[in-house]
Amino acid sequence: MAARRRPRSAVPRRVATLSVHTSPLDQPGAGDAGGMNVYIVEVSRRLAARGIAVDVFTRATSSELPPVVEMSPGVTVRHVSAGPFEGLGKEELPAQLCAVTAAVLREEAQHEPGHYDVVHSHYWLSGQVGWLARDRWSVPLIHTAHTLAKVKNAALATGDRPEPRARVIGEEQVVAEADRLVANTADEARQLVDHYGADPRRTLVVPPGVDLDRFTPGDRAAARRRLGVAEDAVVLLFVGRIQPLKAPDLLLEAAARMLADDPGLRDRLRVHVVGAPSGTGLEAPRQLEQLAAQLGIPDLVRFLPPVHAELLAEHYRAADVAVVPSHNESFGLVALEAQACGTPVVAAAVGGLRTAVRDGVSGVLVEGRDPADYATAIRSVLARRELLSAGARRHAGSFSWERTVDSLVSAYTAAAEEMAAAAGSGVAGTLMRPPRVLGAVRPLGAQVAR
Ligand code: UDP
Repeated sequence: MAARRRPRSAVPRRVATLSVHTSPLDQPGAGDAGGMNVYIVEVSRRLAARGIAVDVFTRATSSELPPVVEMSPGVTVRHVSAGPFEGLGKEELPAQLCAVTAAVLREEAQHEPGHYDVVHSHYWLSGQVGWLARDRWSVPLIHTAHTLAKVKNAALATGDRPEPRARVIGEEQVVAEADRLVANTADEARQLVDHYGADPRRTLVVPPGVDLDRFTPGDRAAARRRLGVAEDAVVLLFVGRIQPLKAPDLLLEAAARMLADDPGLRDRLRVHVVGAPSGTGLEAPRQLEQLAAQLGIPDLVRFLPPVHAELLAEHYRAADVAVVPSHNESFGLVALEAQACGTPVVAAAVGGLRTAVRDGVSGVLVEGRDPADYATAIRSVLARRELLSAGARRHAGSFSWERTVDSLVSAYTAAAEEMAAAAGSGVAGTLMRPPRVLGAVRPLGAQVAR
């Protein structure tokens, strides 16, 4: 017999956020923690401030972790046990998805039916869990991919491993199942439709934001004093996880090129690299240092471990230019944060970076991967830094996490209303799982063939 549900209003009161492979409590800039973690933290606390409680489910990676942590008022992180705590790589997690799903469902089953109004999954591994939770709880599944295997594989760094076929198929399944797909940019929405067969009517563009209270322009000289950087230095900054995809090596090569073109810069040029190895970068953690030595610039490059946002803002302020030379980015929060601090950006003209940076206004976008082109772009930014700094602040100011949350709440609400309408029972008192949209579930063979 179906359990009695309390009436459900379309605007959600409680969201189950799934972040299986990385926790919002982790420090971004290392391992599996990056922009997605920041996204979940920023969105969750703003949802909670609007009276929408958020439970974030993530896999416990240590026996020391308490099962429940209040991250901020109204935001609870729930550590679920699935598989061995330590030493399990992201690529091994598909084998644990059944255990994660069981743990999430058990957790929810301790409450009255109808505890969650919506499931929001992040990254395909969570999407796989979300799809079952959605069926079980009769609530809409909203999914944000963050990265897509097909897109990543099309722009691989030399020597980097392609994402496995199993991930591609897993993503296709989630795309077919989700009630709403949230893309960071129109580009990403198109990729979902063109490469994954997403239904355009269920695919939304919701730009991420930037915390304009934390990432503020400030006194460059003061930031330099705090970080121990000479006032007349020319500082090029890389921030992010150190892995081939992010291509910090290209920045080092560009810096070496700048010195070759102008040896007089040697006393002043500095490259700051903030972040720690991640992904395939973990296999050769000293590679970047070795490259700096090979290029004859080991004394000019400073490697710094990941830092919290407040100190990161000082790094952005202290820099002359932030450089984001990634092979691909679904957005690139670092680019936006640097601009919010008044630091122009030189970035690869790929993916979301084309939205995150306004070419010629807030920085320069570089086509191709020639270090000489990066050196030229950096020089051109240095030559008109004041102007670009003003453009950078303006551009970053047009993004806001509040607007991100406005759009997400609208998406949650519309999906819930649609689900209730499909069940034919109006918004309140949904008792039965509504029928799935016909054709949403495709046979595996068809997915593989595409
Ligand atoms: N980050 C941080 N401390 C660091 C390095 C990075 O907090 O030392 C954060 C940074 O503020 C940004 C995120 O990590 O919000 C990286 O996001 P981005 O979208 O640039 O890259 P992703 O990690 O998603 O590939």
